[in-house]
Amino acid sequence: MQFQPLLEEIVATLQPELGAAGQVASYIPALARVPAPQFGIALRTRDGQEAHAGDSTTRFSLQSISKLFALTLGMREVGEALWDRIGREPSGNPFNSLVQLETEQGIPRNPFINAGALAVTDRLVSRFDAKAEMLSLLSTLCGDPVDFDEEVAASEASTGFRNAALANFMKSFGRIDNDVGTVLDVYFHHCAVRMSCLQLARAAGFLCRDGVHPYTGQQLLTGRQARRVNALMLTCGTYDAAGEFAFRVGLPCKSGVGGGIVAVVPDRLTLCVWSPALEPTGNSLLGMKALELFTAKTGLSVF
Ligand code: GLN
Repeated sequence: MQFQPLLEEIVATLQPELGAAGQVASYIPALARVPAPQFGIALRTRDGQEAHAGDSTTRFSLQSISKLFALTLGMREVGEALWDRIGREPSGNPFNSLVQLETEQGIPRNPFINAGALAVTDRLVSRFDAKAEMLSLLSTLCGDPVDFDEEVAASEASTGFRNAALANFMKSFGRIDNDVGTVLDVYFHHCAVRMSCLQLARAAGFLCRDGVHPYTGQQLLTGRQARRVNALMLTCGTYDAAGEFAFRVGLPCKSGVGGGIVAVVPDRLTLCVWSPALEPTGNSLLGMKALELFTAKTGLSVF
């Protein structure tokens, strides 16, 4: 399949809608300053073919897409015991909701909502320098040096009252081992990693290759673990819009409020789209449209 003309066609189709609808995330002040009329798309196939178009090399804030890589580190380092404190069910609630935590004894529904990612981060903090490990993992996976946007991390730390509430609440149930301030600092930094669509399409490549690292050939996750990550992306990766994504796009996806969405066509390719204006659920409006166009035009789907 020739992907480059298809991605260019998607960019041209969406061009008139750039910046016309949706809202850039404003609850993190540094993200509110990102200009809305931007769109990028990139993919990398299992055998290394690449295509990209639009603002595909502009770096943006990973935000919740980092939860995908935190989970990968957690599955690799902690193994099955990771699931002692995290569920695997869609929450049906916004990504930063507190409501289920009380009735469910501080055990978050899944690793892709904020509470779940904080629980994963806590397990990582117990094991190693989790900021450095994240940068090292992502740099190796995409082949370029990757860093944190310190301004975004600081901006989030100064306004992250809900995340602080979630972490403290879990701590009160005995579900967080480390100092809450340390866990939050690492979590905010993970969210503040900046990468481009092209870098992310490369970095997620192990998810369409049975857990095998695209460049080094290392087994990053087992094939079964990689399939499980894809299952969680499909059911929980786009917050309370996961049903809508499965219906309209039909691929495992992980989104972030920076406007990025990473999608996986198992055994075939990984794809990343980015456009900063969001739907009320926190998913990129044009990103979702682009993925829908991509699967409609290619017929690619997990169903
Ligand atoms: N850093 C953001 C937060 O914790 C991530 C949320 C997101 O991308 N959905 O609120």
